[in-house]
Amino acid sequence: MTNIRLGLVGLGKIARDQHLPAIAATEGIDLVAVASRNATAEDVNNYPDLAAMLGGEPDLDAVVLCQPPQARYDAARTALAAGKHVFLEKPPGATVSEAQALVALASQRGKTLFASWHSRYAAAVPTAKAWVAAHALERVTIDWKEDVRHWHPGQDWIWEPGGFGVFDPGINALSILTEIIGVPVRLIDAELETPSNRQAPIAARLSMETAGGVPIAAEFDFRQTGPQTWDIAIDRAAGTLVLSNGGNEATIDGVAQDIGREAEYPGLYRRFVDLIRTCESDVDLAPLQIVADAFLRGRSMATDPFLD
Ligand code: NAP
Repeated sequence: MTNIRLGLVGLGKIARDQHLPAIAATEGIDLVAVASRNATAEDVNNYPDLAAMLGGEPDLDAVVLCQPPQARYDAARTALAAGKHVFLEKPPGATVSEAQALVALASQRGKTLFASWHSRYAAAVPTAKAWVAAHALERVTIDWKEDVRHWHPGQDWIWEPGGFGVFDPGINALSILTEIIGVPVRLIDAELETPSNRQAPIAARLSMETAGGVPIAAEFDFRQTGPQTWDIAIDRAAGTLVLSNGGNEATIDGVAQDIGREAEYPGLYRRFVDLIRTCESDVDLAPLQIVADAFLRGRSMATDPFLD
């Protein structure tokens, strides 16, 4: 079986931090080209944009899109129309309807569309999913807070419409939640705090429930300084499971669980290779839908201007 020939678009923070090493470590897939307006990668063919890459690399099998969400739809549509399999960084679109349109196009073209949720591949997520399946839940509490200046320095796109603001990290928590709960999650209410000089929220509080009525509270905040908090606490009558470090550590009733080491992006690339080999797609829009519902249903409050 020949290796999948991959092209990467958007050589920014996540492409360099995670995609390049994960691709290099994954059997069955080779990075052959990069499309970037501003940068070049070593040992591959470099192009200024996706159109030039598609024109210059007729044998490309697949494309991974690592740009901000506002650029996702046009690029994915172009790649699918050119007959390429597509790996979408999270979130899979700036809107639910554009992500749905991509699902339809991929199906029509017979190509794999992978809406990746890297946090679902965090080391402790399978442990949490099994624990949740075996116990009646009482409550879920999500605390997802980080320093935007540390994690997103100079990323103006995050504050623009379609940039998600604090939901950019918050959707990671929602991707874990919807993976481990296993039943639909309903958004009840939300409060969004948006800096008076920006378009996207700096903090959000969500009230949700499972289909069975288990309450879920989430608090997202970009204004935390010092170490980040990426925790999900799941309570049942007799005790609590806490997922921390973005899903990469777990305690049950205070006892640390023995789980594997963090390997989110290698897991994503193994999944992408498998999906292409089996001619399948994997697109779950549930986390994106909850964010959209928070914008639809939430109360918006102006807060202090944010200066980077
Ligand atoms: P970034 O470094 O600010 O941007 C990534 C690259 O996208 C840029 O280097 C640029 O690539 C291209 N780009 C930027 N603005 C663009 C625009 N308006 N139109 C087209 N292309 C544009 O962002 P990032 O942190 O890598 O995040 C990119 C995506 O990955 C986001 O959806 C984010 O949610 C997701 N993600 C990020 C992280 C993280 O820790 N940063 C973690 C997981 C997922 P060129 O200069 O090469 O054209």
